[in-house]
Amino acid sequence: MISIVIPVYNEEQSLPSLFSRLIPVMKDYNHEIIFINDGSKDESLSMLREQEKNSCVHVIDMGGNFGQHEAIMKGFENAKGSLIITMDADLQNPPEEIPRLIEQFRLGHDAIGTVRMKRKDTFFRRYASRIVNRITNLITGFQISDYGCMLRGYSREVVERMLKVKRNDIFIPALAQKFSHNPVEIEISHSEREYGESKYSFLKLIRLFMSLMKTAYMIRR
Ligand code: UDP
Ligand code: MG
Repeated sequence: MISIVIPVYNEEQSLPSLFSRLIPVMKDYNHEIIFINDGSKDESLSMLREQEKNSCVHVIDMGGNFGQHEAIMKGFENAKGSLIITMDADLQNPPEEIPRLIEQFRLGHDAIGTVRMKRKDTFFRRYASRIVNRITNLITGFQISDYGCMLRGYSREVVERMLKVKRNDIFIPALAQKFSHNPVEIEISHSEREYGESKYSFLKLIRLFMSLMKTAYMIRR
């Protein structure tokens, strides 16, 4: 089984397109889709609940806004698949790329990392990411090109190892790399956010950076 784990924070505008593009991609696979509502204040939760009529869809409510990575970890706790794929709800990474991740898993890779080609974000975000990727690789000794692209896949074993870490502020792609034996990185396409705005304010980006640094130092130790 393949589990798709999607954190959702105020994505009512993106959800209809997400459902209509993701469900056809997954129909040929034995799968489950786990949505984690991370304290949305809009109609996201009721729209997700509506999808639960489909027996492949499960919804978890965090009951507050705990952040993207914490929400994904909650999804991991509930995922049953042998391959667990994370993705954003805003369609910046096309669901149509999922079969390419599945193919890498079938080739024996236990952590499938991704690099956004022609990334469609602001200059500030792209430039900041470049610096952050470099700093993180210096600390961890890894050679990951794009820590921030969240359409990624992990084997059940890698996810179970991540769940054993006493967590508070962890950054998933970095931690997964530590626990994988045969990681791979593939290039995937990237689109502009079509609906709504980034859910990362400047303050939230700083918090995300801090959790990446905390995870990087934990890996180094
Ligand atoms: N998200 C979340 N909690 C948050 C912030 C974001 O669950 O506090 C979700 C959001 O709904 C989306 C994903 O995390 O599914 C990535 O967010 P976004 O696309 O806004 O990030 P960006 O593309 O700007 O890095
Ligand atoms: Mg986005």
